[in-house]
Amino acid sequence: MNTQASKEAFAEASELIPGGVNSPVRAFKSVGGTPLFIDHGEAGYLVDIDNNKYVDYVQSWGPLIFGHRDESIEKAVIEAVKHGLSFGAPTLAETELAHEVVGLFDSIDKIRFVSSGTEAVMSAIRLARGFTGKDDIVKFDGCYHGHSDSLLVQAGSGLATFGNPSSPGVPADFTKHTLLATYNDLESVKKCFADSSDIACIIIEPIAGNMGLVPADKDFLTGLRTLCDEHGALLIFDEVMSGFRATLHGAESITGTTPDMLTLGKVIGGGMPVGAFGARKEIMAQLSPDGPVYQAGTLSGNPVAMAAGLAALKKLKANSKIFNILNDRAVRLVTGMQDAARKHGITMQVDTRGTMFGFFFNENKVSNFAESAGSDHALFAKFHARMLEEGFYFACSQYETGFVSTATTDEMVEETIKACDKILGELV
Ligand SMILES: *Cc1c(COP(=O)(O)O)cnc(C)c1O
Repeated sequence: MNTQASKEAFAEASELIPGGVNSPVRAFKSVGGTPLFIDHGEAGYLVDIDNNKYVDYVQSWGPLIFGHRDESIEKAVIEAVKHGLSFGAPTLAETELAHEVVGLFDSIDKIRFVSSGTEAVMSAIRLARGFTGKDDIVKFDGCYHGHSDSLLVQAGSGLATFGNPSSPGVPADFTKHTLLATYNDLESVKKCFADSSDIACIIIEPIAGNMGLVPADKDFLTGLRTLCDEHGALLIFDEVMSGFRATLHGAESITGTTPDMLTLGKVIGGGMPVGAFGARKEIMAQLSPDGPVYQAGTLSGNPVAMAAGLAALKKLKANSKIFNILNDRAVRLVTGMQDAARKHGITMQVDTRGTMFGFFFNENKVSNFAESAGSDHALFAKFHARMLEEGFYFACSQYETGFVSTATTDEMVEETIKACDKILGELV
């Protein structure tokens, strides 16, 4: 496979853009090699600037649930563009999309649109703090909630509950209000409440997708709900990734736990930059201009982005069976890969939630970040590079979740399993 044009493009980009990319995960650092520059997408495929074609399991990291260049989304965007790109004034599309989204979740009465998942979570946390009058937040090791200061935390030495900054440039003063707990471990959350009487909220990916795919146990979520109620804290489900990916009605519809607040992104913009956060009426009433908690955005609710999101959500609502159909496909993909690996003496842990799938080269079940980190990352890096050469584009880290879309066909899945069998055979 010739990727000369991508290599040259990457070298040139690296002169002008740090690491040659505008978001670090794209740089392929964790698997080595250089990123492919994309010319275009077509349904289930990506085509790079050397004209190589790949089955796409990344789908722009989640948004493209109908694959590339979905006809109805493309049409809606082109229509919106003809009316103007941005007005900084209300448009009907915002209310229409709000109506669609609020109608899908029991947990939220009102919603505000922003331009990214990072912004959605950052704003939701400010609102939770404003509403409760408390400062501390609880987050889980391995959950990602965007790159705002107070969420870039890692475990401190000596099992401290209070997080340390995970990036230079984040003052320790900013992260001292972020308490770190272990995913699927209720005792670690109880310890946070024992250490602080000032907890505004717990934020969690109820279906974690940023340490690989690691769903929360139902009982664990029930436990979080109880702890929040006992201590007057809010429970925030960050469904920027899992929203409209695992199911149409959110994790609350499949786990039995209802959050106080919800953050969304990715699919909600149909491929355009959209994030959103919502909650019940009393909480949202605290948000500016109704209430005192400030939040704003020049391009928030952008009409072209709203049009793309609306087209995507309408199509999902009209075809809600696709979650079952695509889940069958995702299950076939990962169990097929798992069987192929077993033939070669490799143990793989696999899981799916709707259109999301995950796999770990790991002997044991993965239920938190430490267990995910214990997977065989060296084998994954080789696997990733070889699959790419065979024409299969997987996320370049075992900490990422894979996606199937309506454009991922049964044939693509079978070809992927076959390639996986061949490659793992070569690698052992
Ligand atoms: C992607 C993601 C974010 C951040 O969204 P951006 O649009 O990249 O800022 C936040 N939370 C979760 C769970 C995500 O997967």
